[in-house]
Amino acid sequence: MVVNLDKSTVFQCRQCGDCCAGRGGIMVKPDEVEAMAALLSLPEAEFCRRFVEASALGPRLTVADGVCVFLMAGGLCRVHPVKPFICRQWPFLPALLVDPDELENAKTACPGLNPDCSHGDFVEAARHHARDKNIV
Ligand code: SF4
Ligand code: SF4
Repeated sequence: MVVNLDKSTVFQCRQCGDCCAGRGGIMVKPDEVEAMAALLSLPEAEFCRRFVEASALGPRLTVADGVCVFLMAGGLCRVHPVKPFICRQWPFLPALLVDPDELENAKTACPGLNPDCSHGDFVEAARHHARDKNIV
């Protein structure tokens, strides 16, 4: 159990860029495409041609050289203000919230997750995160 629990105690991004490798596919919805295209001042069709690819699960951001096409030097995101929901939600994904083993797996990949936080701490921090981001 982590003492003095708040979101930053459980998770603090180190900007290593590992979660932007897009291994599971950075899925995008039409409104997200619209927002990212607008941010980059591109017509949606051109945005999709350059930055979106088809997958069995639906459209997703293109992965180039093993990372999301929008990952910049220093682990920064080129579309940060309007990045897809899945990127804003990480690491508080449903799979990690319901399965303690998934959280332990994520701790080995994400240096931003406190290795000492319990699953209960993580779920509580996710509640804070959802409230702060107004996604509940
Ligand atoms: S893997 Fe974790 S620490 Fe690295 S950029 Fe992603 S969220 Fe941040
Ligand atoms: S959109 Fe941004 S945050 Fe999401 S995977 Fe790409 S670079 Fe990372």
